[in-house]
Amino acid sequence: MMQLRIKGISFRYDSIQALEDVTFTAVGGEILGIIGPNGSGKTTLLRCINRTLEPQVGVVLIDDRDVTHLSRREIAQQMGLVPQDAAITFPFTVLEAVLMGRHPYRSILGGETPRDLEIVNEALRLTNTLHLASRPITELSGGEQQRVIIARALAQEPDVLLLDEPTSHLDINHQLEILELVRRLTEERGLVTLLTSHDLNLAARYCDRLLMLERGRVYALGTPEEVLTPANIRRVYRVEVEVTRHRSTGILQVLPLSSIEGDRV
Ligand code: ADP
Repeated sequence: MMQLRIKGISFRYDSIQALEDVTFTAVGGEILGIIGPNGSGKTTLLRCINRTLEPQVGVVLIDDRDVTHLSRREIAQQMGLVPQDAAITFPFTVLEAVLMGRHPYRSILGGETPRDLEIVNEALRLTNTLHLASRPITELSGGEQQRVIIARALAQEPDVLLLDEPTSHLDINHQLEILELVRRLTEERGLVTLLTSHDLNLAARYCDRLLMLERGRVYALGTPEEVLTPANIRRVYRVEVEVTRHRSTGILQVLPLSSIEGDRV
């Protein structure tokens, strides 16, 4: 089974220590949710993992291979990123947008090969966007666009899928649709999937494990039950919550009760 190992990552922007000694392992077939309040380092962590940012300390290993030794192109063959607010401003067709996912495999002069088209078709099929192939991406709904961006990431044939707030702009129906899709892909393809989320209820429902960040440090790591305790949430989010289980489905539910005044100590 594939493993993504993050060992002792620290990252500093000019004046801000955004990550401090972050260590965890995620395995193929699992969704690891990265949670924590605004500014706790979630996006920075995803960017350090795919080397958009270079951590000052620490290593990222895919099956014992250090990604520092990989080129941008090789990294893009290993990891697909679904960014927050993927800027969709140019009216590429869906097919063109997803073909861009094949970029890391292209030769400098070559156009797309039959194999590229085959893989793109498969990505469109998996994300249920095949019927949209010739539509301009700018004309699609938020949920459809998000599926296309996921298709583009899949076209990279990654082992690791990184999703930054994949459901933040979607209505509840499309939130469930996207997360069901991510779960199915993760299982079927044996992907290591990391996703950041502000929605503790969705994270509890769809993630196998959660990593809770507090000001750039790992505060808790474990199953949703282990991580989403009232004490952890009080400390990290400064909110009093009630955590229950839904009577018939058993799904964990976090109900915010009140915010706690004052700064974190
Ligand atoms: P999150 O995704 O959890 O909201 P971020 O990773 O975006 O957190 O940010 C972590 C910390 O790093 C915050 O204090 C934020 O202000 C800071 N930060 C993020 N991006 C930059 C940047 N480009 N330059 C300087 N500081 C940044």
